[in-house]
Amino acid sequence: MYLMRLLVDYPLVSGNGFLLGCGMDMTIRTRFAPSPTGYLHVGGARTALFCWLFARKHGGQFVLRVEDTDEARNTDEAKQAIFDGMNWLGLDWDEGPGIGGPYGPYFQSERKEIYDRYFQKLVDADRVYESEGAWRFRFERKPITMHDLVCGEVTIDYRDESNTPDMVIRRSDGSYVFHFVNVVDDLEMKITHVIRGEDHLMNTPKHLQLIQALGAVAPKYAHIPLIQNQNGSKMSKRDQGAAVDDYPRQGFVAPALVNFLALLGWSPKTEEEIFSLEDLAQRFSLEAVNRAPARFDVEKCAWMNQQHLLRMRDEDFAKAAAVVVAKAGLSVGDDFSTLAKMVKEKVRLLSEVPDAIRFLLENEFAYDLAAVEKVKSNAQAGASLTAMVGHFSAVAEWSSEAAKEAIAATAAEQGVKAGQLMFPLRVALSGKSGGPDLGAMLAYLGRERSVSRLQRFIPQLSSML
Ligand code: GLU
Repeated sequence: MYLMRLLVDYPLVSGNGFLLGCGMDMTIRTRFAPSPTGYLHVGGARTALFCWLFARKHGGQFVLRVEDTDEARNTDEAKQAIFDGMNWLGLDWDEGPGIGGPYGPYFQSERKEIYDRYFQKLVDADRVYESEGAWRFRFERKPITMHDLVCGEVTIDYRDESNTPDMVIRRSDGSYVFHFVNVVDDLEMKITHVIRGEDHLMNTPKHLQLIQALGAVAPKYAHIPLIQNQNGSKMSKRDQGAAVDDYPRQGFVAPALVNFLALLGWSPKTEEEIFSLEDLAQRFSLEAVNRAPARFDVEKCAWMNQQHLLRMRDEDFAKAAAVVVAKAGLSVGDDFSTLAKMVKEKVRLLSEVPDAIRFLLENEFAYDLAAVEKVKSNAQAGASLTAMVGHFSAVAEWSSEAAKEAIAATAAEQGVKAGQLMFPLRVALSGKSGGPDLGAMLAYLGRERSVSRLQRFIPQLSSML
C-alpha cells in the first residue's frame, strides 16, 4: 500500500517512462490555458510547447482551455490567433475548442454552472464570506509548502493575516476571479501536471489552499523560467520577436521556432541543438528544465531557421519558398525548383529567397558598388571578361562544364589563373560578390544571357575608371 501511495504521489518525478510501464493507470494530462487578450506571445507558445511535449512524451493528453472570463478584454481575433499559432507550430490538442472532449466546454466563459457548483462547496464548508459585496475565501492560517518540479520547495506562510489577507474569489457582480476558475478547471479536467510560466509560481500556494478546501488532490506543478531580452530585461509584448504570428511573415518555418522555443529554458543535455518536434517529444523532461531565466536571441533563432531550411528536402524547401516568392511579385516558373535549390544554402529566412533569386529572373539588376570596386582593382578584369565573351559565344552546346572549359581557355589566353576570373564573372552575372554556385548560375542562365550580362557589365568597368 505504501509503495502504491508513493507511486501515485510521485508518478513521474524521475521523468522516465519506467513507472508508467508498471501497469498503473496514470495518464498524464497537461493543459495550456491562455487568456485571449492579444496575439499568441512566444512565452505562451513555449508554455504550450512544454505542455504538449510532456504529454506526448508520456503518451498522455494535451488539453487546450481558453481562459476567457474577462469579457472586456477578450476578443474573437485573439482566440483565433491562439488557434492559428498553435496549428502553425504543430501543437495539436486532444481536447479543447473545435474538438470537444469529456470535460468541456473548454471556454471558461461557458462554464459558469460548474463554478457555481464548486463555489457552493466552499459555502457549505464555511470557507467563504461576504465582504463589501464580494466573496472572500478564508485561507487556512498555516504555512503552505509546494514542491515544484522545476523550482523546488516554495513556502508561503499564511499565519500573518496582514500579509496574506483572505482573497476575493467572487466579485460583487457574480463573476469569479482567475485563481478560482483556474483551480476548478484543473480539477474538473483532471489535469495531472500544471506546467506554466514562473509568473504564476507565487499564485500556486493560494491554489493549493483552494484545492485543500475543496477536499481534492492537487496536480503536480512545474513553473518554467521567464523569458528575458538579451539585456536581461523582462520580455514584453512590444519586444521584437514577441508575437508568434510575425514569424511566418518574416520567413521562419515552424519547426525552427519550435526548436528555438524548446531550448529557451530546456536543455537537451547534448551538444546537438537541432531537433524536430518528434525528437523533442522523445527527449523532453521536466528535470532538464532550467531554473534560470532564458535569454531570447533573435539572431540565434534565425540561425536555427537556416539549420532547419538546410535539412528540408529540396521539394519541400521549393514549395515553401515558392509561396514567399509569389507574394513578393516574382513569377514562379516551371524551373523554380532549380532556382530554389541554388539558394537553399544561402538564406537564413524564406523571406530572403526573392532577393536571392531576383537577379536570375530579371536582367536589369543593380550592381553592388563594393563588388564592382573590387573587380576594378584587378586591372586585367575588363580585358579578360571581353575575351570571355568570345569564348562563351563559341560554345556549341552550353552546360556548366562547357562554360568552365571556356573560362579555362580564356584564362590560358590571357595568361591569368582561371580562379582570378571567377569573381569578376560572378559580379557580371549577378551584380553581387556572393550567391549561388557559379557553375549552377551559368547553367541556369544559359549562353545568351551569360554573354549579354558580360556585355552589360564590361562598360561599367571602363566608364568608371
Ligand atoms: N490564463 C492564465 C495565463 O494566461 C493561465 C495560467 C495557468 O497556466 O495556470 O496566464
